[in-house]
Amino acid sequence: MTRYLVTSALPYANGPIHFGHVAGVYLPADVYVRTLRMMGEEVLSICGTDEYGVAITLKADQEGTPYPEYVKRWNHEIHSFFDRLHIEFDTFSGTSRCPQHEGTAQDFFRHLGANGYLDKQETTQLYCETDEMFLADRYVGGTCYVCGCEKARGDECPDCGTWIDPLRLIAPVCKQCGNTPVHRTTRHWYLNLPKLRDEHIGAWINDHEWKPNVRAFIQNLLKDVPSRSVTRDLKWGVPVPEDLAEGEEGKRLYVWFDAPIGYISFTKELMAQRGTPDEWQRWWQDPETRLVHFLGKDNIPFHCLVFPSMLWGTQQNYILPWQVPANEFYNLEAGKFSTSEGRTLDLDAFFAKYDPEAVRFYILTTLPETSDSTFSLEQMVLTINSGLAGNLGNLATRVLKFLAKNFDGVIPPIAPEHLDEMDHLMLGDCGEIGDPGIHVREFRFRQAAATLLANSSVGNVFMQRTEPWALRKTDPERAASALNTLCEWIRWVAQWMAPFLPQKAQELWEMLGCQGQVAQEPWPGIPQKGAWRRLEAGARLGTPEALFPRVEGGE
Ligand SMILES: [Zn+2]
Ligand SMILES: [Zn+2]
Repeated sequence: MTRYLVTSALPYANGPIHFGHVAGVYLPADVYVRTLRMMGEEVLSICGTDEYGVAITLKADQEGTPYPEYVKRWNHEIHSFFDRLHIEFDTFSGTSRCPQHEGTAQDFFRHLGANGYLDKQETTQLYCETDEMFLADRYVGGTCYVCGCEKARGDECPDCGTWIDPLRLIAPVCKQCGNTPVHRTTRHWYLNLPKLRDEHIGAWINDHEWKPNVRAFIQNLLKDVPSRSVTRDLKWGVPVPEDLAEGEEGKRLYVWFDAPIGYISFTKELMAQRGTPDEWQRWWQDPETRLVHFLGKDNIPFHCLVFPSMLWGTQQNYILPWQVPANEFYNLEAGKFSTSEGRTLDLDAFFAKYDPEAVRFYILTTLPETSDSTFSLEQMVLTINSGLAGNLGNLATRVLKFLAKNFDGVIPPIAPEHLDEMDHLMLGDCGEIGDPGIHVREFRFRQAAATLLANSSVGNVFMQRTEPWALRKTDPERAASALNTLCEWIRWVAQWMAPFLPQKAQELWEMLGCQGQVAQEPWPGIPQKGAWRRLEAGARLGTPEALFPRVEGGE
Protein backbone atom coordinates (compact mmCIF):
# COMPACT_ATOMS: atom_id res chain seq x y z
CA MET A 1 0.00 0.00 0.00
CA THR A 2 1.17 3.52 -0.80
CA ARG A 3 2.61 5.49 2.09
CA TYR A 4 3.84 9.08 2.33
CA LEU A 5 7.21 10.13 3.68
CA VAL A 6 7.11 13.89 4.15
CA THR A 7 10.28 15.87 4.83
CA SER A 8 10.57 19.57 5.61
CA ALA A 9 13.82 21.37 4.76
CA LEU A 10 16.16 21.26 7.76
CA PRO A 11 16.45 24.74 9.33
CA TYR A 12 20.04 25.81 9.94
CA ALA A 13 20.76 25.91 13.70
CA ASN A 14 22.36 29.32 13.51
CA GLY A 15 19.51 31.79 13.99
CA PRO A 16 15.75 32.15 14.25
CA ILE A 17 13.30 31.17 11.56
CA HIS A 18 10.45 33.48 10.67
CA PHE A 19 7.06 33.54 8.97
CA GLY A 20 8.71 33.46 5.55
CA HIS A 21 10.05 29.96 6.24
CA VAL A 22 6.79 28.93 7.86
CA ALA A 23 4.80 29.91 4.77
CA GLY A 24 7.26 28.45 2.30
CA VAL A 25 7.84 25.09 3.93
CA TYR A 26 6.60 24.09 7.35
CA LEU A 27 2.95 25.10 7.48
CA PRO A 28 2.03 23.54 4.11
CA ALA A 29 3.83 20.36 5.20
CA ASP A 30 1.88 20.31 8.46
CA VAL A 31 -1.49 20.76 6.74
CA TYR A 32 -0.59 18.14 4.12
CA VAL A 33 0.33 15.58 6.76
CA ARG A 34 -2.76 16.22 8.89
CA THR A 35 -5.06 15.95 5.86
CA LEU A 36 -3.52 12.73 4.56
CA ARG A 37 -3.80 11.19 8.02
CA MET A 38 -7.52 11.96 8.18
CA MET A 39 -7.81 10.42 4.73
CA GLY A 40 -6.47 7.21 6.21
CA GLU A 41 -3.04 7.35 4.56
CA GLU A 42 0.08 6.08 6.30
CA VAL A 43 2.31 9.14 6.76
CA LEU A 44 5.65 9.91 8.38
CA SER A 45 6.78 13.50 8.88
CA ILE A 46 10.49 14.22 9.38
CA CYS A 47 12.37 17.38 10.33
CA GLY A 48 15.21 18.61 12.54
CA THR A 49 18.04 21.11 12.45
CA ASP A 50 21.09 21.21 10.19
CA GLU A 51 23.87 21.67 12.74
CA TYR A 52 27.28 21.56 11.09
CA GLY A 53 29.34 23.95 8.97
CA VAL A 54 31.53 27.01 9.05
CA ALA A 55 28.83 29.60 9.63
CA ILE A 56 27.94 27.91 12.91
CA THR A 57 31.54 27.66 14.12
CA LEU A 58 32.10 31.34 13.37
CA LYS A 59 29.14 32.56 15.39
CA ALA A 60 29.60 30.06 18.20
CA ASP A 61 33.30 31.04 18.49
CA GLN A 62 32.32 34.71 18.58
CA GLU A 63 30.15 34.19 21.62
CA GLY A 64 32.47 31.63 23.13
CA THR A 65 29.91 28.84 23.24
CA PRO A 66 30.88 25.21 22.57
CA TYR A 67 29.37 24.04 19.24
CA PRO A 68 27.10 21.30 20.64
CA GLU A 69 25.64 23.70 23.17
CA TYR A 70 25.23 26.44 20.58
CA VAL A 71 23.30 24.30 18.09
CA LYS A 72 21.22 22.75 20.87
CA ARG A 73 20.03 26.21 21.84
CA TRP A 74 18.94 27.02 18.28
CA ASN A 75 17.35 23.61 17.88
CA HIS A 76 15.17 24.34 20.93
CA GLU A 77 14.43 27.88 19.84
CA ILE A 78 13.30 26.79 16.36
CA HIS A 79 11.30 23.87 17.69
CA SER A 80 9.45 26.09 20.15
CA PHE A 81 8.55 28.47 17.32
CA PHE A 82 6.92 25.54 15.50
CA ASP A 83 5.12 24.58 18.71
CA ARG A 84 3.63 28.02 18.96
CA LEU A 85 2.07 27.66 15.53
CA HIS A 86 0.93 24.08 16.22
CA ILE A 87 3.25 22.77 13.54
CA GLU A 88 4.12 19.17 14.37
CA PHE A 89 6.48 16.50 13.09
CA ASP A 90 6.82 12.85 14.01
CA THR A 91 10.39 13.67 14.87
CA PHE A 92 12.40 16.88 15.20
CA SER A 93 16.04 15.89 15.62
CA GLY A 94 19.35 17.45 14.57
CA THR A 95 22.36 16.33 12.58
CA SER A 96 24.85 16.60 15.45
CA ARG A 97 22.57 15.09 18.13
CA CYS A 98 21.13 12.16 16.16
CA PRO A 99 23.14 9.04 17.10
CA GLN A 100 22.56 7.44 13.68
CA HIS A 101 23.63 10.45 11.64
CA GLU A 102 27.40 10.13 11.48
CA GLY A 103 27.28 6.46 10.46
CA THR A 104 24.58 7.05 7.85
CA ALA A 105 26.41 10.00 6.29
CA GLN A 106 29.66 8.04 6.23
CA ASP A 107 27.84 5.14 4.54
CA PHE A 108 26.83 7.46 1.73
CA PHE A 109 30.44 8.53 1.30
CA ARG A 110 31.55 4.89 1.36
CA HIS A 111 29.04 3.64 -1.22
CA LEU A 112 29.40 6.61 -3.56
CA GLY A 113 33.16 6.12 -3.48
CA ALA A 114 32.96 2.36 -4.04
CA ASN A 115 30.62 2.91 -7.00
CA GLY A 116 33.01 5.34 -8.66
CA TYR A 117 31.10 8.57 -8.13
CA LEU A 118 33.69 10.35 -5.95
CA ASP A 119 36.86 11.84 -7.46
CA LYS A 120 39.80 13.20 -5.54
CA GLN A 121 41.18 16.53 -6.69
CA GLU A 122 43.99 18.74 -5.54
CA THR A 123 43.32 22.40 -4.82
CA THR A 124 45.22 25.29 -3.30
CA GLN A 125 43.72 27.06 -0.30
CA LEU A 126 44.75 29.57 2.32
CA TYR A 127 46.22 27.95 5.40
CA CYS A 128 46.92 29.58 8.77
CA GLU A 129 50.11 28.23 10.30
CA THR A 130 49.28 29.74 13.69
CA ASP A 131 45.85 28.11 13.98
CA GLU A 132 47.02 25.09 11.97
CA MET A 133 43.99 25.01 9.77
CA PHE A 134 42.78 25.65 6.23
CA LEU A 135 40.69 28.77 6.20
CA ALA A 136 37.17 28.65 4.90
CA ASP A 137 36.20 31.74 2.89
CA ARG A 138 34.48 33.30 5.83
CA TYR A 139 37.60 33.07 7.97
CA VAL A 140 39.57 35.26 5.57
CA GLY A 141 39.75 39.04 5.13
CA GLY A 142 41.94 41.28 3.01
CA THR A 143 42.13 43.96 0.35
CA CYS A 144 39.94 43.63 -2.74
CA TYR A 145 41.98 43.04 -5.91
CA VAL A 146 39.33 44.81 -7.98
CA CYS A 147 38.57 48.04 -6.11
CA GLY A 148 41.17 48.21 -3.36
CA CYS A 149 38.63 48.11 -0.52
CA GLU A 150 40.47 46.99 2.59
CA LYS A 151 37.49 45.28 4.13
CA ALA A 152 36.94 42.56 1.54
CA ARG A 153 35.77 39.19 2.87
CA GLY A 154 36.90 35.81 1.65
CA ASP A 155 33.73 35.36 -0.35
CA GLU A 156 32.65 38.85 -1.37
CA CYS A 157 33.74 42.48 -1.49
CA PRO A 158 31.26 44.73 0.37
CA ASP A 159 32.18 47.75 -1.79
CA CYS A 160 32.20 46.52 -5.38
CA GLY A 161 30.29 43.26 -4.86
CA THR A 162 32.93 41.14 -6.57
CA TRP A 163 32.73 37.43 -5.88
CA ILE A 164 36.16 37.08 -4.27
CA ASP A 165 38.68 34.37 -5.05
CA PRO A 166 40.41 34.29 -1.63
CA LEU A 167 43.73 33.25 -3.19
CA ARG A 168 43.90 36.56 -5.06
CA LEU A 169 43.21 38.81 -2.04
CA ILE A 170 45.87 41.45 -1.45
CA ALA A 171 47.32 41.24 2.09
CA PRO A 172 45.05 38.39 3.24
CA VAL A 173 44.59 37.94 7.00
CA CYS A 174 43.29 35.12 9.13
CA LYS A 175 40.25 36.49 10.94
CA GLN A 176 40.95 34.38 14.01
CA CYS A 177 44.55 35.35 14.81
CA GLY A 178 45.24 38.26 12.47
CA ASN A 179 48.31 36.62 10.92
CA THR A 180 49.00 36.20 7.22
CA PRO A 181 47.91 32.82 5.84
CA VAL A 182 50.00 30.90 3.29
CA HIS A 183 49.03 29.00 0.13
CA ARG A 184 48.95 25.28 0.67
CA THR A 185 47.64 22.44 -1.44
CA THR A 186 44.98 20.18 -0.06
CA ARG A 187 43.00 17.33 -1.55
CA HIS A 188 39.27 16.93 -1.51
CA TRP A 189 36.66 14.51 -2.76
CA TYR A 190 34.17 15.63 -5.39
CA LEU A 191 30.80 14.16 -6.23
CA ASN A 192 30.80 13.42 -9.95
CA LEU A 193 27.42 14.88 -10.79
CA PRO A 194 27.95 14.89 -14.58
CA LYS A 195 28.47 11.13 -14.50
CA LEU A 196 25.42 10.56 -12.29
CA ARG A 197 23.38 12.75 -14.61
CA ASP A 198 24.46 10.87 -17.71
CA GLU A 199 23.96 7.41 -16.23
CA HIS A 200 20.51 7.92 -14.76
CA ILE A 201 19.46 11.13 -13.04
CA GLY A 202 19.16 13.27 -16.21
CA ALA A 203 16.68 10.84 -17.78
CA TRP A 204 14.84 10.45 -14.50
CA ILE A 205 14.41 14.23 -14.15
CA ASN A 206 13.14 14.52 -17.71
CA ASP A 207 10.59 11.73 -17.29
CA HIS A 208 9.35 12.77 -13.87
CA GLU A 209 6.15 14.73 -13.42
CA TRP A 210 7.01 17.90 -11.51
CA LYS A 211 4.93 20.85 -10.40
CA PRO A 212 5.14 23.41 -13.25
CA ASN A 213 7.20 25.96 -11.30
CA VAL A 214 9.62 23.22 -10.27
CA ARG A 215 9.93 21.91 -13.83
CA ALA A 216 10.78 25.41 -15.07
CA PHE A 217 13.46 25.72 -12.42
CA ILE A 218 15.32 22.48 -13.11
CA GLN A 219 15.04 22.32 -16.89
CA ASN A 220 18.10 24.49 -17.46
CA LEU A 221 20.02 23.02 -14.63
CA LEU A 222 20.93 19.79 -16.36
CA LYS A 223 23.13 21.30 -19.06
CA ASP A 224 25.75 22.70 -16.75
CA VAL A 225 26.22 20.35 -13.87
CA PRO A 226 29.60 20.73 -12.16
CA SER A 227 31.22 18.23 -9.83
CA ARG A 228 30.80 19.40 -6.25
CA SER A 229 33.31 18.99 -3.46
CA VAL A 230 31.89 16.89 -0.64
CA THR A 231 34.68 17.41 1.89
CA ARG A 232 36.11 20.34 3.78
CA ASP A 233 39.01 21.04 6.11
CA LEU A 234 36.91 21.74 9.14
CA LYS A 235 36.70 21.04 12.82
CA TRP A 236 32.90 20.74 13.13
CA GLY A 237 31.26 18.14 10.91
CA VAL A 238 30.98 14.43 10.14
CA PRO A 239 34.54 13.06 9.73
CA VAL A 240 35.51 11.30 6.51
CA PRO A 241 35.61 7.59 7.51
CA GLU A 242 39.13 6.82 8.73
CA ASP A 243 39.64 3.78 6.53
CA LEU A 244 38.80 5.86 3.46
CA ALA A 245 40.72 9.02 4.36
CA GLU A 246 43.84 7.83 2.46
CA GLY A 247 46.09 9.49 4.99
CA GLU A 248 44.32 12.83 4.81
CA GLU A 249 43.77 14.41 8.18
CA GLY A 250 41.01 16.65 9.45
CA LYS A 251 38.70 16.06 6.49
CA ARG A 252 35.03 16.33 7.20
CA LEU A 253 31.94 16.00 5.06
CA TYR A 254 30.80 19.29 3.62
CA VAL A 255 27.59 20.39 5.33
CA TRP A 256 25.51 20.37 2.13
CA PHE A 257 26.39 16.69 1.76
CA ASP A 258 25.52 15.46 5.22
CA ALA A 259 22.46 17.66 5.87
CA PRO A 260 19.87 15.96 3.61
CA ILE A 261 21.06 12.56 4.81
CA GLY A 262 19.57 13.79 8.10
CA TYR A 263 16.13 12.92 6.71
CA ILE A 264 17.26 9.28 6.68
CA SER A 265 19.19 9.23 9.95
CA PHE A 266 16.31 10.94 11.79
CA THR A 267 13.98 8.25 10.44
CA LYS A 268 16.37 5.58 11.73
CA GLU A 269 16.53 7.29 15.12
CA LEU A 270 12.73 7.49 15.38
CA MET A 271 12.26 3.85 14.42
CA ALA A 272 14.89 2.79 16.95
CA GLN A 273 13.04 4.79 19.62
CA ARG A 274 9.83 2.99 18.65
CA GLY A 275 11.59 -0.35 19.08
CA THR A 276 11.47 -1.24 15.37
CA PRO A 277 14.97 -0.30 14.18
CA ASP A 278 14.64 -1.95 10.74
CA GLU A 279 11.40 -0.19 9.94
CA TRP A 280 13.23 2.79 8.35
CA GLN A 281 13.93 0.63 5.31
CA ARG A 282 10.24 0.35 4.55
CA TRP A 283 10.13 4.15 4.42
CA TRP A 284 13.28 4.74 2.40
CA GLN A 285 13.81 1.66 0.25
CA ASP A 286 10.35 0.41 -0.69
CA PRO A 287 9.06 1.76 -4.04
CA GLU A 288 5.55 1.96 -2.54
CA THR A 289 6.69 4.98 -0.50
CA ARG A 290 6.02 8.41 -1.94
CA LEU A 291 8.80 10.77 -0.83
CA VAL A 292 7.61 14.40 -0.63
CA HIS A 293 10.14 17.17 0.06
CA PHE A 294 8.70 20.50 1.24
CA LEU A 295 11.15 23.36 0.69
CA GLY A 296 11.66 26.90 -0.60
CA LYS A 297 12.49 27.46 -4.26
CA ASP A 298 16.18 28.13 -3.59
CA ASN A 299 16.39 24.49 -2.53
CA ILE A 300 14.89 23.04 -5.72
CA PRO A 301 18.14 22.24 -7.59
CA PHE A 302 19.49 20.52 -4.57
CA HIS A 303 16.48 18.29 -3.90
CA CYS A 304 15.67 17.56 -7.52
CA LEU A 305 19.19 16.92 -8.74
CA VAL A 306 21.93 16.67 -6.13
CA PHE A 307 20.23 14.67 -3.39
CA PRO A 308 18.57 12.24 -5.85
CA SER A 309 22.03 11.73 -7.40
CA MET A 310 23.40 10.87 -3.98
CA LEU A 311 20.50 8.52 -3.22
CA TRP A 312 20.74 6.71 -6.53
CA GLY A 313 24.54 6.68 -6.61
CA THR A 314 24.78 4.60 -3.43
CA GLN A 315 22.99 1.76 -5.27
CA GLN A 316 21.28 0.91 -1.98
CA ASN A 317 17.70 0.88 -3.32
CA TYR A 318 16.84 4.30 -1.98
CA ILE A 319 13.67 5.75 -3.41
CA LEU A 320 13.81 9.09 -5.25
CA PRO A 321 11.48 12.03 -4.54
CA TRP A 322 7.90 11.75 -5.76
CA GLN A 323 6.98 15.42 -5.42
CA VAL A 324 8.88 18.56 -4.44
CA PRO A 325 6.12 21.08 -3.71
CA ALA A 326 8.46 24.05 -3.56
CA ASN A 327 7.00 27.48 -2.94
CA GLU A 328 8.13 30.87 -4.13
CA PHE A 329 9.36 33.45 -1.61
CA TYR A 330 7.22 34.93 1.15
CA ASN A 331 8.21 38.49 1.85
CA LEU A 332 7.65 40.16 5.13
CA GLU A 333 6.20 43.62 5.26
CA ALA A 334 9.05 46.13 5.28
CA GLY A 335 10.11 47.29 8.71
CA LYS A 336 8.04 44.74 10.60
CA PHE A 337 10.30 41.75 10.26
CA SER A 338 13.93 41.26 9.53
CA THR A 339 15.57 38.21 8.05
CA SER A 340 19.30 38.61 8.52
CA GLU A 341 19.48 40.99 11.45
CA GLY A 342 17.78 38.63 13.84
CA ARG A 343 14.26 39.13 15.05
CA THR A 344 12.69 42.55 15.17
CA LEU A 345 9.24 41.20 15.96
CA ASP A 346 8.54 40.53 19.61
CA LEU A 347 6.96 37.10 19.33
CA ASP A 348 5.62 37.04 22.87
CA ALA A 349 3.75 40.28 22.29
CA PHE A 350 2.64 39.10 18.86
CA PHE A 351 1.15 35.83 20.07
CA ALA A 352 -0.42 37.52 23.08
CA LYS A 353 -2.40 39.63 20.64
CA TYR A 354 -3.05 37.21 17.77
CA ASP A 355 -4.30 33.67 18.08
CA PRO A 356 -1.67 31.34 16.58
CA GLU A 357 -4.31 29.45 14.61
CA ALA A 358 -5.66 32.67 13.13
CA VAL A 359 -2.08 33.47 12.09
CA ARG A 360 -1.80 29.98 10.55
CA PHE A 361 -4.96 30.56 8.59
CA TYR A 362 -3.91 33.97 7.33
CA ILE A 363 -0.55 32.60 6.18
CA LEU A 364 -2.32 29.76 4.34
CA THR A 365 -4.51 32.21 2.46
CA THR A 366 -1.42 34.10 1.26
CA LEU A 367 1.02 31.27 0.55
CA PRO A 368 3.51 32.03 -2.23
CA GLU A 369 2.38 29.06 -4.32
CA THR A 370 2.71 30.48 -7.80
CA SER A 371 4.44 33.80 -7.21
CA ASP A 372 6.11 35.67 -4.38
CA SER A 373 3.70 37.10 -1.81
CA THR A 374 3.82 39.31 1.25
CA PHE A 375 2.83 39.01 4.89
CA SER A 376 0.95 42.12 5.94
CA LEU A 377 -0.35 42.74 9.46
CA GLU A 378 -3.18 44.88 8.14
CA GLN A 379 -4.31 42.14 5.76
CA MET A 380 -4.02 39.59 8.53
CA VAL A 381 -6.37 41.57 10.76
CA LEU A 382 -8.85 41.77 7.86
CA THR A 383 -8.68 38.02 7.31
CA ILE A 384 -9.19 37.32 11.00
CA ASN A 385 -12.13 39.68 11.33
CA SER A 386 -13.98 38.92 8.10
CA GLY A 387 -13.00 35.35 7.24
CA LEU A 388 -12.61 33.80 10.65
CA ALA A 389 -14.69 35.90 13.07
CA GLY A 390 -17.30 37.04 10.52
CA ASN A 391 -17.77 33.74 8.69
CA LEU A 392 -16.57 30.62 10.53
CA GLY A 393 -16.86 31.98 14.05
CA ASN A 394 -20.19 33.65 13.34
CA LEU A 395 -21.75 30.43 12.13
CA ALA A 396 -20.66 28.45 15.16
CA THR A 397 -21.26 31.03 17.84
CA ARG A 398 -24.63 32.19 16.62
CA VAL A 399 -26.14 28.73 16.31
CA LEU A 400 -24.67 27.26 19.48
CA LYS A 401 -25.38 30.27 21.69
CA PHE A 402 -28.94 30.39 20.44
CA LEU A 403 -29.38 26.71 21.30
CA ALA A 404 -27.88 27.20 24.75
CA LYS A 405 -30.28 30.01 25.45
CA ASN A 406 -33.47 28.73 23.88
CA PHE A 407 -33.21 24.94 23.49
CA ASP A 408 -31.72 23.89 26.84
CA GLY A 409 -28.32 23.35 25.23
CA VAL A 410 -29.28 20.19 23.38
CA ILE A 411 -29.44 19.33 19.69
CA PRO A 412 -33.04 19.90 18.64
CA PRO A 413 -34.93 17.23 16.68
CA ILE A 414 -35.61 17.39 12.96
CA ALA A 415 -39.18 16.58 11.91
CA PRO A 416 -39.23 13.77 9.30
CA GLU A 417 -41.36 15.87 6.97
CA HIS A 418 -38.64 18.57 6.89
CA LEU A 419 -35.73 16.26 6.07
CA ASP A 420 -35.86 16.44 2.29
CA GLU A 421 -36.45 20.15 2.18
CA MET A 422 -33.66 20.99 4.64
CA ASP A 423 -31.20 18.66 2.91
CA HIS A 424 -32.06 20.15 -0.42
CA LEU A 425 -31.64 23.69 0.84
CA MET A 426 -28.31 23.13 2.64
CA LEU A 427 -26.69 20.82 0.12
CA GLY A 428 -28.01 22.33 -3.07
CA ASP A 429 -29.18 25.88 -2.66
CA CYS A 430 -26.93 27.88 -0.37
CA GLY A 431 -23.75 28.00 -2.40
CA GLU A 432 -21.11 25.73 -3.84
CA ILE A 433 -19.70 23.03 -1.56
CA GLY A 434 -16.15 21.83 -2.18
CA ASP A 435 -13.73 19.33 -0.73
CA PRO A 436 -10.72 21.24 0.69
CA GLY A 437 -8.83 17.94 0.93
CA ILE A 438 -8.68 17.51 -2.84
CA HIS A 439 -6.78 20.79 -3.11
CA VAL A 440 -4.43 19.86 -0.28
CA ARG A 441 -3.55 16.61 -2.05
CA GLU A 442 -2.54 18.67 -5.06
CA PHE A 443 -0.58 21.18 -2.97
CA ARG A 444 -3.06 24.03 -3.57
CA PHE A 445 -3.30 25.22 0.01
CA ARG A 446 -4.73 28.66 -0.75
CA GLN A 447 -7.54 27.09 -2.69
CA ALA A 448 -8.08 24.62 0.14
CA ALA A 449 -8.37 27.41 2.72
CA ALA A 450 -10.74 29.34 0.46
CA THR A 451 -12.89 26.22 0.02
CA LEU A 452 -13.13 25.78 3.78
CA LEU A 453 -14.41 29.35 4.13
CA ALA A 454 -16.84 28.88 1.22
CA ASN A 455 -18.28 25.78 2.90
CA SER A 456 -18.71 27.71 6.11
CA SER A 457 -20.53 30.44 4.15
CA VAL A 458 -23.04 27.85 2.98
CA GLY A 459 -24.07 27.43 6.63
CA ASN A 460 -24.38 31.19 7.06
CA VAL A 461 -26.55 31.51 3.94
CA PHE A 462 -28.75 28.66 5.22
CA MET A 463 -29.12 30.49 8.51
CA GLN A 464 -30.21 33.69 6.75
CA ARG A 465 -32.63 31.83 4.52
CA THR A 466 -34.32 29.90 7.34
CA GLU A 467 -34.11 32.54 10.10
CA PRO A 468 -34.59 30.09 12.98
CA TRP A 469 -34.69 32.86 15.61
CA ALA A 470 -37.76 34.38 13.93
CA LEU A 471 -39.31 30.98 13.22
CA ARG A 472 -39.04 29.99 16.86
CA LYS A 473 -42.05 32.13 17.65
CA THR A 474 -44.21 31.24 14.63
CA ASP A 475 -43.22 27.64 13.82
CA PRO A 476 -41.04 26.14 16.58
CA GLU A 477 -40.92 22.70 14.96
CA ARG A 478 -39.51 24.15 11.75
CA ALA A 479 -37.04 26.25 13.74
CA ALA A 480 -35.84 23.08 15.45
CA SER A 481 -35.41 21.32 12.10
CA ALA A 482 -33.35 24.20 10.71
CA LEU A 483 -31.14 24.35 13.81
CA ASN A 484 -30.66 20.58 13.75
CA THR A 485 -29.48 20.89 10.15
CA LEU A 486 -27.12 23.71 11.11
CA CYS A 487 -25.59 21.59 13.87
CA GLU A 488 -24.94 18.83 11.34
CA TRP A 489 -23.31 21.39 9.08
CA ILE A 490 -21.10 22.73 11.87
CA ARG A 491 -19.97 19.17 12.52
CA TRP A 492 -18.79 18.91 8.92
CA VAL A 493 -17.11 22.29 9.14
CA ALA A 494 -15.20 21.21 12.26
CA GLN A 495 -13.85 18.18 10.37
CA TRP A 496 -12.88 20.24 7.34
CA MET A 497 -11.13 22.70 9.68
CA ALA A 498 -9.02 20.13 11.48
CA PRO A 499 -5.86 20.19 9.31
CA PHE A 500 -5.88 23.99 9.00
CA LEU A 501 -6.98 25.06 12.49
CA PRO A 502 -6.36 21.95 14.58
CA GLN A 503 -7.01 23.40 18.01
CA LYS A 504 -10.01 25.51 17.00
CA ALA A 505 -11.53 22.54 15.21
CA GLN A 506 -11.24 20.51 18.41
CA GLU A 507 -12.82 23.32 20.45
CA LEU A 508 -15.72 23.49 18.02
CA TRP A 509 -16.04 19.70 18.09
CA GLU A 510 -16.40 19.83 21.88
CA MET A 511 -18.86 22.73 21.75
CA LEU A 512 -21.03 20.43 19.62
CA GLY A 513 -20.82 17.82 22.35
CA CYS A 514 -18.90 15.40 20.10
CA GLN A 515 -16.58 12.87 21.72
CA GLY A 516 -12.89 12.14 21.09
CA GLN A 517 -10.50 13.94 18.76
CA VAL A 518 -11.81 15.49 15.58
CA ALA A 519 -8.43 14.77 13.97
CA GLN A 520 -9.12 11.06 14.47
CA GLU A 521 -12.29 11.27 12.40
CA PRO A 522 -12.13 10.09 8.81
CA TRP A 523 -11.80 12.83 6.22
CA PRO A 524 -15.39 13.91 5.43
CA GLY A 525 -15.15 14.63 1.70
CA ILE A 526 -18.41 16.16 0.38
CA PRO A 527 -21.79 15.52 2.08
CA GLN A 528 -24.25 13.40 0.10
CA LYS A 529 -27.98 13.98 0.42
CA GLY A 530 -29.65 11.37 2.61
CA ALA A 531 -26.34 10.11 3.99
CA TRP A 532 -24.67 13.01 5.73
CA ARG A 533 -26.38 13.34 9.11
CA ARG A 534 -24.63 11.88 12.14
CA LEU A 535 -25.93 13.74 15.20
CA GLU A 536 -28.54 12.53 17.65
CA ALA A 537 -31.40 14.81 18.62
CA GLY A 538 -31.42 15.46 22.37
CA ALA A 539 -27.64 15.06 22.70
CA ARG A 540 -26.12 17.65 24.98
CA LEU A 541 -24.02 20.43 23.48
CA GLY A 542 -20.85 21.76 25.11
CA THR A 543 -20.40 25.33 26.29
CA PRO A 544 -20.40 27.80 23.38
CA GLU A 545 -17.50 30.26 23.32
CA ALA A 546 -16.46 32.81 20.73
CA LEU A 547 -14.22 30.79 18.42
CA PHE A 548 -12.40 33.73 16.83
CA PRO A 549 -12.65 36.99 18.77
CA ARG A 550 -12.31 40.02 16.53
CA VAL A 551 -8.96 41.80 16.74
CA GLU A 552 -8.10 45.44 16.35
CA GLY A 553 -5.41 47.38 14.63
CA GLY A 554 -2.68 46.05 12.42
CA GLU A 555 0.09 47.74 14.29
ZN1 LIG B 1 36.03 45.45 -4.20
ZN1 LIG C 1 45.06 32.27 12.17
